[in-house]
Amino acid sequence: MSECGCETVTEPAMKPLEEALELLLSHARTVSGTEVVPLAEANGRVLAESVVSRINMPPWDNSAMDGYAVNSADISAPGTGLRISQRIPAGAAPQPLEPGTAARIFTGAPVPEQADSVVIQEVCRQEGEQVVIDEVPQPGANIRRAGEDTRVGQAVLEAGTRLGAQHLGLAASVGVGELTVYRRLKVALFSSGDELINPGQPLGPGQIYNSNEYTLQALLQSLGCELVSLGIVADTFDATCDALARAAAQADLVMTSGGVSVGEEDHLKPAVEKLGSLDLWKIAIRPGKPLAFGHIEGTPFIGTPGNPVSLFVTFCLFARPFILKSQGVGESQLVPTPVPARADFDWPKAEKRREFARARLQLDGEGLGRVSLYSSRSSGVLNSLTWANGLAILPEGQTLARGDTVRFIPFSELLK
Ligand code: AMP
Ligand code: MG
Repeated sequence: MSECGCETVTEPAMKPLEEALELLLSHARTVSGTEVVPLAEANGRVLAESVVSRINMPPWDNSAMDGYAVNSADISAPGTGLRISQRIPAGAAPQPLEPGTAARIFTGAPVPEQADSVVIQEVCRQEGEQVVIDEVPQPGANIRRAGEDTRVGQAVLEAGTRLGAQHLGLAASVGVGELTVYRRLKVALFSSGDELINPGQPLGPGQIYNSNEYTLQALLQSLGCELVSLGIVADTFDATCDALARAAAQADLVMTSGGVSVGEEDHLKPAVEKLGSLDLWKIAIRPGKPLAFGHIEGTPFIGTPGNPVSLFVTFCLFARPFILKSQGVGESQLVPTPVPARADFDWPKAEKRREFARARLQLDGEGLGRVSLYSSRSSGVLNSLTWANGLAILPEGQTLARGDTVRFIPFSELLK
């Protein structure tokens, strides 16, 4: 059955998700061109060259605690008193420890030569010029060793990493102030449909607001793409061809919403076929069965369905990994790992297509994750996406009962 409900004998079989994704990814080419950006502008970008540390981290032995640096051999029993011979705050360059003395030391400060241990201040009493130490220290205690975290020559960040706070912090910690990243992927997009009008204007007869444009823009922005919007394109063959040609001429990827089914008002299929090549797929998932992929004069094209939820789901499952790979992201980071949780619902009827159900993960009274489903399965209801915090994967050909394990992909993994 096609999305319009009409059976056609010649309709190709639905592709399993894995097969469709593999095919799509096999066409993803990493953008050529890199740029060097300061760390402060690198958040969300994709690293094009690995970062190798030129320093040890920490650069020198330093104290993990506030306390007293000592030579442990000087303290044979609790209650030993030692003269305080120097004070070493963070940022100081200490003298070697005088034999038979202690140095007042603070977290992050260099441990002086001849000291082999830091005694935490909680087990020490300062009495005038002396410190009385109430615990026998272990050699090496409370000292962070030079090179313990990172060694000179170690690759701390691999090319293909999508940079986030932790990566930028690590680069900064080894003294790297600029990173070589891939240039942003330029995506041209438009929404096809005569019924569409942009928000902010009064709604005429037969019209609906163009929500997909905004959903799609935000999804693409989250992935760091540069956008060119061609707006709303009329449901005619000529207008569709014209928009596709303009889009392909100025972008690395063309993305559209709507018009990818095979009804008389769906012009994307013939238009892409005229201008280039098209693989129109029927994928064995729900929502989002029709997804168009092809090329227009060498520029890849992804046409998502017009139904707002179908657009969202197909974007997350297909366009997102394609875009990440095109931006140079490593294979292991393209698709999120679903988490297991308990179904808080029954799924009594086995379906032919794998369902990506709008779902909400919450903790139950025992602290275990429970997944509930939105009340409607209609792919037009955008409220379902604001209600949900992820997608539950309901396998094809299977039923589920309350309490069964179900896999769940949090939106936090899909929308970053
Ligand atoms: P289509 O894929 O063009 O057949 O559209 C499927 C459904 O999605 C129809 O109900 C359309 O009105 C709706 N739709 C298509 N494009 C958009 C859009 N940009 N924003 C909101 N709804 C849309
Ligand atoms: Mg349409």
